Amino acid sequence: MNIHEYQAKEILESFGVKTLPGKVADTADEAVSIANTLTSSKYVVKAQIHAGGRGKGGGVKLANSIAEVGQLAEEMIGMELVTPQTGPEGKLVRKVLIVEAAEIHKEYYLAILLDRETSHLTLIGSEEGGMDIEEVAAHTPEKIIKTQIHPAFGITDFQAREFAYKLITDSSYRHLIPNASELIMSLYNAFVECDCSLIEINPLTIVGENDDLDIAALDSKVNFDDNSLWRNPEIAEMRDPHEEDPSELEASGSGLSYIRLDGNIGCMVNGAGLAMATMDIIKQKGGEPANFLDVGGGASVEAVAHAFRLILADKNVKAVLVNIFGGIMKCDTIATGIVEAAKQVQLTVPLVVRLEGTNVDLGKQIIAESDLNLQLAEGLSEAAELAVNAVNTA
Ligand code: ADP
Ligand code: MG
Repeated sequence: MNIHEYQAKEILESFGVKTLPGKVADTADEAVSIANTLTSSKYVVKAQIHAGGRGKGGGVKLANSIAEVGQLAEEMIGMELVTPQTGPEGKLVRKVLIVEAAEIHKEYYLAILLDRETSHLTLIGSEEGGMDIEEVAAHTPEKIIKTQIHPAFGITDFQAREFAYKLITDSSYRHLIPNASELIMSLYNAFVECDCSLIEINPLTIVGENDDLDIAALDSKVNFDDNSLWRNPEIAEMRDPHEEDPSELEASGSGLSYIRLDGNIGCMVNGAGLAMATMDIIKQKGGEPANFLDVGGGASVEAVAHAFRLILADKNVKAVLVNIFGGIMKCDTIATGIVEAAKQVQLTVPLVVRLEGTNVDLGKQIIAESDLNLQLAEGLSEAAELAVNAVNTA
């Protein structure tokens, strides 16, 4: 699960991370009253959407006066913000964060994430932080530093200090290394206690007057492990349904695992592994899957009907491939489910079905005897070919 910057800011503050003073607003009037409580003379108005790259897309703007805060907030709230991460359709801005504008001396990148290759949480940092970190990672990977955190010991003081030493090499800022290592410890604590899957601070900045410098998180992105949300109800409440795909939201409410993709072959499969294999083979045959969908082991008529409705709600879908392996759930039960469900939802695109497993012959018979207009495939390879052909000839 992803949250907004203003929510991430609150969480990190509660763990002792220094950020800039500011609050979120739903309206321009509210934005003005927030700016009135801040002590700086300049402000930054930041669009709150679940995507980065806002600076490049016009979603982070400097206001030189309180009146300008109101003006910028007015413009931003309600706009469809397009950034390098939103896709061309952009994202609707419903809230803006109003923060004090800081004089930035230096921008670093700092993140904690799970390195799936080593199964370790990993600290990642760079002295070249800011809006072009993707370029740095792609072209000058030697400017990225990493430290693995042992899962049993957690982060140690010396690791945090050593990392801060490597991160901050400029002599004018070396005196801030203790602050930086404390900040790293706080981030790690937040990561573990909130069951995060990612904390990214970009930029982590050196701010303040020359004789009174400090280190502060200017922008933060926090993601959580969905499987932990039951034990962090206050975090689960931060979910913003506007930011989620409505079909995915509906699916998660009914026990289906559904993820929408860009292709045009809708897939209905039981079991996540089989679903992945189905998507792979569709690609291998030259097609593009429209979704990942695992109907689960139960695959009742209701679940199958629901799954069909979800798939067909996606206007890009030009054919549907059902790939079911009957195990504990027998093929004849599933076949009945498919036939019933296909009638209920008035299928308008070609349907290819591949069944295998317990009672497969009976299942195929039920499908053959139904008056549904579908193609029954022998094997996964043929099923994928039929689906790709159906799309190509549609
Ligand atoms: P995004 O990552 O979505 O582009 P950021 O919050 O990182 O958004 O903002 C982009 C850039 O804007 C930052 O790298 C920083 O240079 C500048 N910026 C953001 N907030 C402030 C602030 N409060 N004061 C001064 N500059 C800021
Ligand atoms: Mg940023």
